[in-house]
Amino acid sequence: MTKRELRAAIKARIVPMSRGRREESARKIAEKLAAFGWKGKRIMLYRALGDELDVAPAADALAADNEVFYPAVDGEDMFAVADSEDTETGAFGIAQPVGERLNAADARLDICVVPLRAFDASCARLGRGKGYYDRFLRGADCFKVGVAYDEQQTDGLPTEPHDVPLDIVVTPTEIYRR
Ligand code: ADP
Ligand code: MG
Repeated sequence: MTKRELRAAIKARIVPMSRGRREESARKIAEKLAAFGWKGKRIMLYRALGDELDVAPAADALAADNEVFYPAVDGEDMFAVADSEDTETGAFGIAQPVGERLNAADARLDICVVPLRAFDASCARLGRGKGYYDRFLRGADCFKVGVAYDEQQTDGLPTEPHDVPLDIVVTPTEIYRR
């Protein structure tokens, strides 16, 4: 299967999921992330597109004890911006905080929680095909946490040298480690 076919096949598994199932998955991910016990960390989260796992419940659990950042997309580049009440609509129609746009190193991120289209048991990641996270995370010294539905797991994902692997992938039922 080409990457494009793989993305389509996995999307077809996610689109029919019920709202209840999505919400339950988001709650389980929040519990699993909270169980790491992170305190005083600088953590980048994301605002989910309709077919991505929603980390808003995780944000609620993590924001009290940590500093949360969200992505801001600018052309080909993605930056980390500290969470703020002041938001604007960015690429893909997603809200992003207004504030200083930092690369991963300048944001001194400890942890980056990454959406994905597909992953494999070795924590290789396939994104939406634009490479934003590969560019953002290249050389970034942070703990990279993929979050996904179990249905997004696939065997032997095709990867290229520019693909940045994840350190762990958290699903509602499992934690995969690199
Ligand atoms: P995704 O990770 O979103 O699935 P790809 O890994 O296929 O997407 O990357 C999409 C494109 O982004 C690549 O074909 C490449 O042109 C560009 N790209 C990704 N990472 C880098 C990088 N580190 N340096 C330069 N270009 C990159
Ligand atoms: Mg990639």
